[in-house]
Amino acid sequence: MRAVQYRTIGAAPEVVDIDKPTPGPGQVLLEVTAAGICHSDDFVMNLPADQYTYGLPLTLGHEGAGRVAELGPGTTGIDICTDVVVYGPWGCGTCHACAQGKENYCSRAAELGINPPGLGAPGALAEFMIVDSPRHLVPIGDLDPVATVPLTDAGLTPYHAIKRSLPKLRAGSTAVVIGTGGLGHLAIQILRALSPARVLALDVTEEKLALATAVGAHDVVLSDADAAANVRKALGGRGADLVLDFVGAQPTIDTAMAVAGVESDVTIVGISSKPAAAQVGFFRQAYEASVTVPYWGSRGELIELIDLAHQGVFDVHTETFAMAEAPTAYERLAAGTLAGRAVVVP
Ligand code: NAD
Ligand code: ZN
Ligand code: ZN
Repeated sequence: MRAVQYRTIGAAPEVVDIDKPTPGPGQVLLEVTAAGICHSDDFVMNLPADQYTYGLPLTLGHEGAGRVAELGPGTTGIDICTDVVVYGPWGCGTCHACAQGKENYCSRAAELGINPPGLGAPGALAEFMIVDSPRHLVPIGDLDPVATVPLTDAGLTPYHAIKRSLPKLRAGSTAVVIGTGGLGHLAIQILRALSPARVLALDVTEEKLALATAVGAHDVVLSDADAAANVRKALGGRGADLVLDFVGAQPTIDTAMAVAGVESDVTIVGISSKPAAAQVGFFRQAYEASVTVPYWGSRGELIELIDLAHQGVFDVHTETFAMAEAPTAYERLAAGTLAGRAVVVP
């Protein structure tokens, strides 16, 4: 079967022919119907050899959708031909966090060598993929796999980040979204669906800001050196109640901290290869502003998102690519010229 693999540190991903996998006991074989491309893959592929821990070759893709093709010996709980999306942050399934569906915070995954598909385990950028357990599968019914697969990360990660701050997003509040790409354009829609907050979005080009407006941002501001002042002006001098930073680099963290109001949440989702200097402390941030770095989301939250998708809540913007074009999709991601999410259809 064909797959997209990261094979050499520092090199571009390659489209290769590898053996079709066979599901082992308890596992599920999916015929992949769609696989999303995340900026985190770019982060991973830019790590120097001494910090790279995901194994080589690595079949990429931690956003997967597929149709159940085969069950391993003893696998029960899902039927052949069911259309599903894959919950990606796999855990042990039994620790306290996993028992609550928060496998993204499994306390034993590292010790047991359990990795998400595409981030250690073979991922979804292939014709077939192995899923370790049917509990990682969420049936999607008649939803379009291309428009639904981004919900597994580009949707789930902001959904989790936003849900924890909902009590602060009362009427009259403001949420600021920095970076309106794959995650950011869904964050805007999740904020609009779940809260009465005014949503103000920042990005670096007019095209990205036009997408932000199209998916529901009330206001947009160019993310340049004057961004913090312009956000403050747009907010009438008040600080924001929630700032979601989907870039996580020094300039955006500076903006986030400068626009965060009293008792706000500053949630840094973006992962930058250049660590930022600390911005926290007295005189550096608004009183009782809390800064957090969430990772992905829970199984239950993915089920909630798929339920929202069935209600027609989301307008997921995707650009589709054939498997052979996946390296081009990664180039476009790095260049910042994608609108919404790149999705590979095998
Ligand atoms: P993306 O490339 O689709 O979107 C990033 C957006 O940020 C683009 O629209 C880009 O134009 C914009 N941008 C770049 N520099 C900017 C700046 N200075 N100011 C404002 N906007 C700027 O990326 P994505 O797939 O949506 O991922 C976003 C980030 O979230 C990445 O860093 C990724 O690694 C990270 N991520 C984190 C988690 C987590 O669990 N914490 C999960 C998924 C992705
Ligand atoms: Zn991701
Ligand atoms: Zn666990």
